[in-house]
Amino acid sequence: MTKQTLTQLEQHELFLTRHIGPDEVQQQAMLNVVGAESIDDLIGQIVPESIRLDRELTVGRPNNESEGLDYIRNVANKNQVFKSYIGMGYYPTLVPNVVLRNVLENPGWYTAYTPYQPEIAQGRLEAIINFQQMSMDLTGLDLASASLLDEATAAAEAMALAKRVSKAKKANIFFVANDLFPQTLDVIKTRAECFGFDVVVGPAHEAVNYELFGALFQYTNREGQIHDYTELFTELKAKKAVISVAADIMSLVLLKSPGEMGADVVFGNAQRFGVPMGYGGPHASFFVTKDTHKRSMPGRIIGVSQDTRGNRALRMAMQTREQHIRREKANSNICTAQVLLANMASFYAVFHGPQGLKTIANRINRFTDILALGLASKGLNPVNSAWFDTLTFESTNLVAIKTRAAAAKLNLRIDSDLRFGVSLDETTTREDIAQLFDVILGEDHGLDVTIIDEQVLAATESSIPASLQRQNAILTHPTFNRYQSETEMMRYIKRLENKDLALNHSMISLGSCTMKLNAVAEMLPISWPEFANMHPFCPLEQAEGYTQLINELSDWLVDITGYDAICMQPNSGAQGEYAGLLAIQKYHASRGDGHRNVCLIPQSAHGTNPASAQLAGMKVVVTACDAQGNIDLDDLRTKAQEVAEHLSCIMITYPSTHGVYEETVQEICEIIHQYGGQVYLDGANMNAQVGITSPGFIGADVSHLNLHKTFAIPHGGGGPGMGPIGIKAHLAPFVAGHTIIKPGLESDNNGAVSAAPYGSAGILPISYMYIRLLGSKGLKQSTQMAMLNANYVTKKLSEHYPLLFSGRNNRVAHECILDLRPLKETSGVTEMDIAKRLNDYGFHAPTMSFPVAGTLMIEPTESESKVELDRFIEAMIAIREEVRKVEAGLWPADNNPLHNAPHTLADIMDPEFDSRPYSRELAVFPTAVTKANKFWPTVNRIDDVFGDRNLFCACVPMEDYE
Ligand SMILES: *Cc1c(COP(=O)(O)O)cnc(C)c1O
Repeated sequence: MTKQTLTQLEQHELFLTRHIGPDEVQQQAMLNVVGAESIDDLIGQIVPESIRLDRELTVGRPNNESEGLDYIRNVANKNQVFKSYIGMGYYPTLVPNVVLRNVLENPGWYTAYTPYQPEIAQGRLEAIINFQQMSMDLTGLDLASASLLDEATAAAEAMALAKRVSKAKKANIFFVANDLFPQTLDVIKTRAECFGFDVVVGPAHEAVNYELFGALFQYTNREGQIHDYTELFTELKAKKAVISVAADIMSLVLLKSPGEMGADVVFGNAQRFGVPMGYGGPHASFFVTKDTHKRSMPGRIIGVSQDTRGNRALRMAMQTREQHIRREKANSNICTAQVLLANMASFYAVFHGPQGLKTIANRINRFTDILALGLASKGLNPVNSAWFDTLTFESTNLVAIKTRAAAAKLNLRIDSDLRFGVSLDETTTREDIAQLFDVILGEDHGLDVTIIDEQVLAATESSIPASLQRQNAILTHPTFNRYQSETEMMRYIKRLENKDLALNHSMISLGSCTMKLNAVAEMLPISWPEFANMHPFCPLEQAEGYTQLINELSDWLVDITGYDAICMQPNSGAQGEYAGLLAIQKYHASRGDGHRNVCLIPQSAHGTNPASAQLAGMKVVVTACDAQGNIDLDDLRTKAQEVAEHLSCIMITYPSTHGVYEETVQEICEIIHQYGGQVYLDGANMNAQVGITSPGFIGADVSHLNLHKTFAIPHGGGGPGMGPIGIKAHLAPFVAGHTIIKPGLESDNNGAVSAAPYGSAGILPISYMYIRLLGSKGLKQSTQMAMLNANYVTKKLSEHYPLLFSGRNNRVAHECILDLRPLKETSGVTEMDIAKRLNDYGFHAPTMSFPVAGTLMIEPTESESKVELDRFIEAMIAIREEVRKVEAGLWPADNNPLHNAPHTLADIMDPEFDSRPYSRELAVFPTAVTKANKFWPTVNRIDDVFGDRNLFCACVPMEDYE
């Protein structure tokens, strides 16, 4: 036996061999098929010489898993987890362990994609509709969205909605009560500036003094006060103002709902329903409005429809409204939202049920009462006269209090040299209250929590005035009343999970979405308390671990992107676009070029591009693509010339949305720069660039990265995401800032784009681990293998389906587009039929009809082995054969396995199946693999039109369960 060297033996342990699907034997076999001598030969054929990096990445050597985990453990240990009483929208919470293990830490939930294919997504669709039902019950309004990115961006969306629907057409003022959380106001101001709205901030009652289209109030406010706004809202509505309320979700369990007071929109962070603070995110914001505003609703809504059997089925309502974010008609640019976290919050409500939630909320309120009474008995009365969980005090002793707080390892909310606040939460205990007495009063107070509790019980007055106490029942739906035992809960979660196809069943080849492996070693750290339980506004010196993590990750991303700096604030790709465009606009303004407001966008762009440009207050001019899908340079030059000194920027995607490396990209950058414009390069396709080329190297000025695509954060069934932007040095002073925590890059007065300074910092450990484990070598190899896999699939499938586009040497980059339109002409079989038929074969459909209608875009990623690719190819070829039978007239166009797909158990149990011209076996077991590992779609094809005509976006009525 030949002995291996130690280095060879160590290599075997490297994570990169686990991340990359094909082993060396498979790689060689695939190279043979595509006709390349080596990986380098293949990459040489694909990537134009002029854009190829002439250096290796410098992110370090690959780590094995235990080494990487040891390292990040040390980083985590540098975070000091103080007990947080800061509040301001973020609260300690107890994640039910049954939800932690079975949802957050379960690939069946976290690796799923956005439910665009509802027949294989009924589980998470039900969980989201529970979220919507919960949101409606608590807010007292009747149409809820499926989650927005955070409370502050939801506020900006509420303002935009108010402008769209307000009948006060001439008004330009949006009024904001001055007791709103400052981070929310910050994001509102940024957005208002783009839209040209006037934001007026003042005491709530002064709202009536203005000609306004909308107004926003916080309930309970930043000091903990709760107001009954019923009369104020009536007056404001007489002025045709649209009223929004930022509400605390836990308080709503006990409080009169804002809907009852007359609010039109209610939103807020759902974090404290069982989602860790994570140093700022990810968390879901709920957003609820009136049914009359459904066409103006930002983000997604899940609705009820029926399948071809007439059975109830869930799907995204008004999907076509949203699928391309509707360019200039966009309501918002929200694509990736916060589905996984919305699901966690809804499961929290399902698990506790209305009684459990009331107990939790009552306990929080009782502890607050005890704290207030105890302190009052010592002469320290709260500033607020009514409260749910938050008290604000003025004290000349604040210096001493702060010192004692630090010694006790707890954080209070510090408003000024005199003012401080305390917010309690479901983790608060008697001991905590006793400790708070010690910290606030000093040791000799002699207060006893049990005795004060008796006094609170005996008191006639309540801290929640009678007029503000909730009178109606919440969460009466059976779903919230039958899973209070852990056994029932575990099975409910599992039952839903079983309905959904995620990466733990088969590959999800969604072009542009990069559904690669989300490795366990990358995921583990996000549950550690040192990362999970940090408040985003805790003093920076407590967050040394996060600071190190963010700095190291930024340095790596600088190396990978070729930019000079990274801004971590945007919490989705589309938010990154918005943040990047704002930086461009501020840069222009700083040079006296404030008039530059035109954004050129090629036809083939992702829908979020024009939507983000709209949000940033820009005018979109669309430029043409040629027959190859490349940007038409002549048209680009003409348009650039036409807009001339009004040119702000171009937004391009590279490799193009069509999956090819355009040779002219550097020329495009030059043309734009020549006219004084900036180049925004959409980084969604970074998986074809890492280690091979980079946006900075190509000549772009700014890009967002989708950490939830290229850098291994899982899709979570439609979020979370992170969309940090890389920028060249000249743009760095213009990136997003924050009112509370100063990330440091930006100049002082830059507004924020997200509620938290570093966006959804809680999931950054995933991308950090991804890069650390792969190292320079593994990152580059991943890109190469993504291209090998894509070209292998392309080669195999192009013998059966026409390929829409290819680049140099007839190669594609990391994805390919199959053109199904010719098949449709000869057979009547649509791209939808093929997508649904793939479900019968156990696969999720590739991206459908983007960027070209009637096509499928396939992106296999580097994580899929040749074995899995071959299974997918086998399915696609078998489907092509089925289409042939339709073409040949062997099967009628309206009765064949494609038209009737997906097939369910109900189909094959149906005696009428006998009249179909194909067998039951072909329907549900078309290949040997499906027999061994069958995925059963739980509903037949869903009727979208029916659902939109009969819009119903809540849990289905009880009778349907009987
Ligand atoms: C995914 C994607 C986006 C949007 O990213 P989100 O995180 O979903 O907002 C933008 N552009 C392209 C090309 C994409 O594929």
